[in-house]
Amino acid sequence: QVFGYRDFAQQAKLDKAFMAVPDPALAGQHLKTLTAAPHWASSPEDYATAVYVADKFKAAGLETEIVPFKVLLTKPVKIVIEAFDATGNKLMSGPTPEHVDPNKFGGDPFQDDPRILPAFNGSSPSGDVTAEVVYANYGTLADFQQLAKLGISIKGKIVLVRYGENFRGIKTYIAQQYGAIGVLIYSDPADDGYFRGDMYPKGPYRPETGVQRGSVQFLPIYPGDPTTPGIASTPDLPDSKRIPADKLQNNQPSIPTNPLSYHDAAPILKALGGAESPREWQGALPFTYHLGAGGNHTEANKVTVHMHLDEDIALRTIWDVIGTINGTDDSQKDNWVVAGNHRDAWVYGAVDPNSGTAAMLETVHGLGQLLKQGWKPKRTIVIGSWDAEEEGLIGSTEWAEQHEKILAHAVAYFNTDVGVAGPNFDAAAVPSLKQFVREVTKEVPSPKGGTVYDQWKADQNAPSPTRKRNRSSESTDSDVRIGTLGSGSDYTPFIQHLGVPSTDIGSEGPYGVYHSVFDNYNWFTKFADPTFVYEQQQARVFGLEILHMADADVLPYDYQLYGKEIVGYLEAAQKLATTKGLSLDFTSALAAANRFATAATAIRAVQSAPPANPTGLNEALRNAEEALLNPDGLPKRPWYKHTIYAPGEFTGYAAVVIPGVNEGIDAPDAPRAQAQLAALTAALNRSAAILEAAK
Ligand code: GLU
Ligand code: ZN
Ligand code: ZN
Repeated sequence: QVFGYRDFAQQAKLDKAFMAVPDPALAGQHLKTLTAAPHWASSPEDYATAVYVADKFKAAGLETEIVPFKVLLTKPVKIVIEAFDATGNKLMSGPTPEHVDPNKFGGDPFQDDPRILPAFNGSSPSGDVTAEVVYANYGTLADFQQLAKLGISIKGKIVLVRYGENFRGIKTYIAQQYGAIGVLIYSDPADDGYFRGDMYPKGPYRPETGVQRGSVQFLPIYPGDPTTPGIASTPDLPDSKRIPADKLQNNQPSIPTNPLSYHDAAPILKALGGAESPREWQGALPFTYHLGAGGNHTEANKVTVHMHLDEDIALRTIWDVIGTINGTDDSQKDNWVVAGNHRDAWVYGAVDPNSGTAAMLETVHGLGQLLKQGWKPKRTIVIGSWDAEEEGLIGSTEWAEQHEKILAHAVAYFNTDVGVAGPNFDAAAVPSLKQFVREVTKEVPSPKGGTVYDQWKADQNAPSPTRKRNRSSESTDSDVRIGTLGSGSDYTPFIQHLGVPSTDIGSEGPYGVYHSVFDNYNWFTKFADPTFVYEQQQARVFGLEILHMADADVLPYDYQLYGKEIVGYLEAAQKLATTKGLSLDFTSALAAANRFATAATAIRAVQSAPPANPTGLNEALRNAEEALLNPDGLPKRPWYKHTIYAPGEFTGYAAVVIPGVNEGIDAPDAPRAQAQLAALTAALNRSAAILEAAK
């Protein structure tokens, strides 16, 4: 019996009618149309995709609007990266355009489009710097600390780091704090290239000239339009309400950063002298990596890089598409169920993000058929096709900030981004929705046989070099593992700023062309989902999430698991504090967490035998999540208000749990950690009191 329904048989019938609609061939057509041209946010081609999506929403019967925002975006004008040895010999001159041999393995039909922007990092400032190079592995905090320990300073240097481990903006964030004057981020074949498997177009991995574009904004400080944290950057917003571009140092890097292919990075790395790099820092290029400093480093073996980035940083118009199906239940129609996916891409974005969009359009197709059969949801359903996610979750954040008041009552946000990169379903969610996601996947058949749930469970250890959903091992139930929401996609404004319970779903596989020209329809149909059956699966799972949440009698949140996880987080933090020699008092926080867990167990019983009118119960269930927000936000980053989940200041993608406390311990800063324990205690007590009072 699925949780949350008085009469699940009725719901199951609706689910079946819905599941008959999403169509693989139609999903394939959507994908082909959406990815026909590069559609970088704010470009005319991006607007054309907004119109396409809006037309599909309208055809399904959704009230549809194209919603513009005016936001700060970086567009490359001219990018020059060149390297020289000590005698002035040119080692490389780039960036080399992304290109594969057109005569081998079918080549790539998309690579020569003149609208492709040069590979760049969004939010990088312009700059013209020349300096010696130091190699810093993945550019994690630990990596920079290790260099410092080895006596190597990066002050005044250009740092060469590889992609992986943390969000790329964090690499720049830390490098800047250590005094570097420029950053180059390259894709090492060890991480998503030939070391993993065959390169595109023979296989799915990143080819020699493939580059990962991407934003280097300081995502863990705040996402969205850099000039308007906390408020919506509507087209008519006066400039006086915006932070001027030269005062954005909290959120925008001050040192130039650019991505490179391994084709362009290898000659630099190969020429570096100095100490041999720690052996774990060695990637898969065929020479021994050195640090460019330390050891036998002399004038004679120095490598100098010249970076000249000319970026046009300006306010530009972007377009979200918002489709609405009004709810019919007067007491609950303002409890929105929001679902969304971004639409903009660095180039073609077949996997990221339009595999998600194509599936979402088939979800909407299914909802439209139900509407035609006379169905109407209890709660209002809002579907968002976000723009400018790639630059920093901008379209979703601005829209969420604009609707902050009503979203305080929203019952869920369902995200998808990389909807289909391969056959392995995966999810991340707040603990209160983990069981909900599992139940949905038990209803959907898998192309591999059995249900999506069965396959998910069977292949949850399948390797995925580019996994973004951050599976957590700390999950306290024994069922299929579901990741923790960190950041890097559009759920962030909903869960971490507004406290809307969220999930993120998609299916994964070997995917080495992330944020490159080669993430296109040709790659997708060769390596991800040639017959679009995983698109269909994705449309169905996404749709059932929406249907179940829109019509559930009782909100199907599982606070029991939430409580267990929070107690676990606190116990782990307490251990960490002890190991670090910090004397912190966890008594009140643990008491509050246990109080929350006890209240959660009691509410679970009420949810299973709900009162005739569950309106008050539902309200309490929803408010319990919102109560976990701290209105003051986190230290240094007040936009992030959730006391249980945030992207880590030094991870970006990966979540840090009970972030105020754990980052205080990590710092280490005992007074800060103790103050954050108090804020967490207050939030847990608020939330517990709401659950205790619910009937
Ligand atoms: N999905 C984007 C990325 O990973 C998010 C960018 C951002 O949040 O700044 O690059
Ligand atoms: Zn994406
Ligand atoms: Zn992306």
